[in-house]
Amino acid sequence: MLTPAQKKFLASLFPGEAASFDEAACFVHGSDASRLPGMPWGVVRPTSAEQVAELLAWAQRERVPLLPRGRATGVAGAAVAANGGLVVSLLRMNRILEISPGDFLARCEPGVITADLQKACAAKGRFYPPDPGSVGISTIGGNIATCAGGMRAVKYGVTRDWVLGLTAVLPGGAVVRTGGRCHKDVAGLDLTRLLVGSEGTLGIVVEATLRLIPLPEASASLLAGFADMGALMRAAQAVFGGGLLPTAMEFFDQGTLRALSLTAESVPWPSGTAAALLLRLDGSAGAVAAELGKLDALLTPCAPTFRELAPDPAAEERLWELRRLVSPALYKLGPDKLADDLAVPRGVIAEAVAAFTAIGERRGVTVVCFGHLGDGNVHTDVMYDAADPRQNEAAHAAKDEILAAALGLGGTITGEHGVGLAKLPHLPGQIGAAERGLMRRLKAAFDPLGVMNPGKAY
Ligand SMILES: Cc1cc2nc3c(=O)[nH]c(=O)nc-3n(C[C@H](O)[C@H](O)[C@H](O)COP(=O)(O)OP(=O)(O)OC[C@H]3O[C@@H](n4cnc5c(N)ncnc54)[C@H](O)[C@@H]3O)c2cc1C
Repeated sequence: MLTPAQKKFLASLFPGEAASFDEAACFVHGSDASRLPGMPWGVVRPTSAEQVAELLAWAQRERVPLLPRGRATGVAGAAVAANGGLVVSLLRMNRILEISPGDFLARCEPGVITADLQKACAAKGRFYPPDPGSVGISTIGGNIATCAGGMRAVKYGVTRDWVLGLTAVLPGGAVVRTGGRCHKDVAGLDLTRLLVGSEGTLGIVVEATLRLIPLPEASASLLAGFADMGALMRAAQAVFGGGLLPTAMEFFDQGTLRALSLTAESVPWPSGTAAALLLRLDGSAGAVAAELGKLDALLTPCAPTFRELAPDPAAEERLWELRRLVSPALYKLGPDKLADDLAVPRGVIAEAVAAFTAIGERRGVTVVCFGHLGDGNVHTDVMYDAADPRQNEAAHAAKDEILAAALGLGGTITGEHGVGLAKLPHLPGQIGAAERGLMRRLKAAFDPLGVMNPGKAY
């Protein structure tokens, strides 16, 4: 708990509504999209790097844990208090500071919504590709701290591939600047990459310099259905085998298609479709048109149950709306869900999906698989009714078995969502004691007294 003297200091550093200690504010900041609970002691809302530096100097002196927070769309509980602390909401630091078409970079504060930055870049003919499904609601700071992935990762990689430099404030108040405006830079250890994905455990990011590329002129999409997952996997291989690198390659298994059929006003696939592949291409208008034709030709021998080509933005939007509908639609299959974002080596995706589905069948619970097929990042959701003790036990056993199966195939317990609180118990199954010890020693170099988001990530 904060003492009256500590509250007095914070109220003077964050005047008016910029500091709140009442129960309602703590309650609102007491969870994130993981729905895990963790009540903080208060919330402060800085508007400048100087304020953040003063706060971090004070927090280290007073040993007050700090919980950096963007839009709280994180699904691993990384922004949730493990054991109290002060939430630092970065949402008021939301200025786009520069978009330089000449240097192919953007500079912004951490509270900028990712889609807003993308729109501002597009207006100047530039493209910031990372696109988590939460692109319209999550922040650049949160994306950096979780190294967010997304649909376009097949072609463009994940957030870490687009961060050129960072300004971060460390516990004690020191301001560090890593990287810079150069697209190539190998001077010294790569502190930028260490901060990316560190889940707020090392310092608070107050400014980011992000890499941009020319805005692609056009895009097109294609949805294809298959009679089973085996045919879908063969089709995915045919796409790469044909020399195409799609921007996105998403898949839906039978359970996902059933949930969408129960939710959407209409769905394009005929009966007999048990799996679907959603692909997007981008580039110059001529190249996209040619590649769409080639994609269609490559899929034809794979015996699709149907194909829908979307050569323009309006047609594409209809297909991608189905992808966005997946998460809410899955609740048609059960009132509760245990969600994971496993990734496996790309060569064993078919084996992984078959293993996860079989685990659900054996345990008598519904396991659906969907997501980023192109880069091996399989989302698995165990749908169940937590109020039923038998289902509850079977669902948790299935989840543990799925995580173990992913690790057994050389995979990871999290491809893009992070460890946070949710995955922490499973981390020793993937990362050894020596490596976790090294991570903790690195943290101690940034945060010797352990005030930054304690109890998380490693
Ligand atoms: C509908 C939906 C779809 C999603 N789709 C995807 C997806 O496709 N890919 C994907 O990767 N994720 C996805 N997510 C998860 C989530 O959106 C991402 O993890 C996102 O990056 C979190 O951003 P945020 O602003 O909400 O951060 P928060 O949830 O508020 O925080 C996340 C972490 O970042 C830290 N943090 C935030 N700001 C800072 C800062 N300035 N300095 C230091 N640390 C900071 C927090 O302490 C915490 O550890 C999805 C979530 C939802 C709800």
